[in-house]
Amino acid sequence: MAKTVQVAVSNATYHFDKLYTYLVMPDQESLVRTGSLVLVPFGRSSRARMGIVLGCDEVPVNAKLKALFDVAPDTAALPPDLLRLVLFLRERTFCTYYEAVKAVIPYGALYKPALAEDGVTPVLRRQLTRHTENQYRLVGTLPQKPKPTAKQLAAVALLGGGPRLLNDLEEKGVSRDVLDRLCDKGVLACEKVNKTLDLYGDIPQKGVDVTLTPQQQAAYDALAPHLATGKAHGALLYGVTGSGKTLVFLKLIQQCLALGRKALILVPEIGLTPQMIHRLKSAFGDRVAVQHSALNHTERFLQWQMIQSGGADIVVGTRSAVFAPLRDIGLIIIDEEQEHTYRSESAPRFYAHEVARQRAAENGALLLLASATPSTESFYAASKGRYQLVTLTQRYGGNPLPTVEMVDMRAELAEGHSGDISRRMEEAIRQNLEQGKQTILLLNRRGYQTVTVCQDCGQVLKCEKCSVPMVYHKARGELLCHYCGSSIRPVPTKCPTCGGKLLYTGFGTQKAEEELAKLFPTARILRMDQDSTSTKDAHERLLAAFGRHEYDIMLGTQMVAKGLDFEDVTLVGVLGIDSLLFAQGFRSSENVFSLVTQVVGRGGRAESPGHAIIQTVAPEDPILNLAAAQDYDAFFQQEILFRKLSLYPPFCRVCMVGFSGTKEADVASAAARFAQILGQLASQREKMPLRVLGPTPCTIAKINDKYRYKLTVKCRGDRAFRDLMREVLATYEKEKLPQKASVILDMHSDGDL
Ligand code: ADP
Ligand code: ZN
Repeated sequence: MAKTVQVAVSNATYHFDKLYTYLVMPDQESLVRTGSLVLVPFGRSSRARMGIVLGCDEVPVNAKLKALFDVAPDTAALPPDLLRLVLFLRERTFCTYYEAVKAVIPYGALYKPALAEDGVTPVLRRQLTRHTENQYRLVGTLPQKPKPTAKQLAAVALLGGGPRLLNDLEEKGVSRDVLDRLCDKGVLACEKVNKTLDLYGDIPQKGVDVTLTPQQQAAYDALAPHLATGKAHGALLYGVTGSGKTLVFLKLIQQCLALGRKALILVPEIGLTPQMIHRLKSAFGDRVAVQHSALNHTERFLQWQMIQSGGADIVVGTRSAVFAPLRDIGLIIIDEEQEHTYRSESAPRFYAHEVARQRAAENGALLLLASATPSTESFYAASKGRYQLVTLTQRYGGNPLPTVEMVDMRAELAEGHSGDISRRMEEAIRQNLEQGKQTILLLNRRGYQTVTVCQDCGQVLKCEKCSVPMVYHKARGELLCHYCGSSIRPVPTKCPTCGGKLLYTGFGTQKAEEELAKLFPTARILRMDQDSTSTKDAHERLLAAFGRHEYDIMLGTQMVAKGLDFEDVTLVGVLGIDSLLFAQGFRSSENVFSLVTQVVGRGGRAESPGHAIIQTVAPEDPILNLAAAQDYDAFFQQEILFRKLSLYPPFCRVCMVGFSGTKEADVASAAARFAQILGQLASQREKMPLRVLGPTPCTIAKINDKYRYKLTVKCRGDRAFRDLMREVLATYEKEKLPQKASVILDMHSDGDL
């Protein structure tokens, strides 16, 4: 008898994503188990590939079997709970085993193929090797001869206050070369230190010293008992903006920990993690770990290890934190649960709620979704009793919700005022500045001018590789494609097609910043968009500065709209979201309603009441009016009716099938063939309600020189449906159609690709 293992390999196509059997060499037997990462020979040429062991067996010796090349140490093996998540992901999202592995554990915990010192034997190597970093400290004085360079002086000055890490010094403009030379001179000493584990170590612990309001207490009382039952339970905390949902979270987490269980908290975007980390660390101290994509690989891995080894009681992070290797979870919170960022847009295309539900079921935990504007699906589920509904109707401190007024930008223009900032908005901002209060302004387009048209032929200047307009970025002096990153510089003045004069229009955050500076020369303006927050920690630093009232106006894209809590903000302005009013996809109304309600809710959260102004070319838009009235209940009634009449979730599931390839005719025919296979296989099954729309070109028909088509499949989304789709995918691959167009399936998209 010999020991064998069943292995799923990396880079598998859908059709070939099966388990392959390998022989285990005697010296590997004690190392390998289900969940082990292994290196295997694959295919005719026996090239080395990564794999994961999903089963072990004893079989009669079979000479034909290939043997494992190498096995990663036991510490790298996936524990049973994470392995279950891998299988769950593969079942639910149509990804391959190994794609699921890569989603569940961070890059830094993975291994990669390499060669042993002999240069021929394939072995595994850690993906991350450097866990230490250089730390420099001052040990001598800087000689005055030869005359020290400015950089050397700067380095010595910086280190005067104590040791610093290389990274930190480099960020301040001191290069490694300079430091090493100073070490040679005996001025500095360098040591290797373990990379910092404690990301926010300087936050003092104050404990949870709040008294809940009666309404908050009632919410807590309704939820807390479910922490102790050991049975899974789902609840929706529907509380208006500023009602203190976070305070209810803190009390629940406190109770969860008191019961000896652990808590997982998801926030929708990186920008909101610092605020949550601060609140959690100040309440609960050090045993808080963080998982989000702005951490570098090492930080992320070290945090993950801390969780894995039982060193964390609380994990906070964005979407992928839902896979954190926490054991004995008692509470999972999904804050701002309606946010689209909880749906992954690359493989595996998972929905954090679905994974969270699974983990809550496995752990017997309380799953708490929270929002001022719950998703239509979640609120419907609550209204049907599938989630416990808990509500907070009052703002903390008894403040009313902000008052909202709309400015009709068409009327502004008709009255001869063509500026992008209306007179009413200008007046309100001025007044707010005079009162020493802060203003938040939302404009959901980054760049300077967002559209370039030819005055002669009327054509819009588009990216050569993508079917989207190029956006003018003034500071960079170029036109930029926001999809593929292509740029044109210098900025053209003549139409590339007809030579006519180009007209630059459209209003982006950079132009808004410039206009605000002209209108309010003494105001301190902070611009928050992808361009201004691209460097590490920028987000956090800027928000903290705004919180200290170092700025008067914060202008930004979506990222300023949600979750932020600043007491001095009394005015909120929406400079523009009109493009969203005309967006595609069945969740577009919900998105507009939620965005406007959320941003309006940023104002008047402390003593002074808030006011909001919305500029729009469609002041009659019903969704906008409901958002202005902050009337979620009316919105929900209207939206659920629309979903029912036009058959959208929660009344069915929508599975989007996307196709992309370099030749449009090929993509179209591959998509058509997929639809045909789907139709044929579905008709062989009983009770398979399906509606297939398309294929049609996607809303953005081309990205990065790839043409894009889509099929919209309305279905039940149950196991039978997934089995059907798997069969369709396998047939599609057998016919070698992926050579014409690659295919993706998304069970959670908003119906637009
Ligand atoms: P939400 O998340 O519901 O929009 P927050 O949890 O951010 O609201 O609370 C809004 C503000 O009110 C925060 O500054 C919070 O500290 C304060 N607050 C809410 N409830 C209380 C309470 N019971 N005691 C003290 N401060 C509170
Ligand atoms: Zn492009």
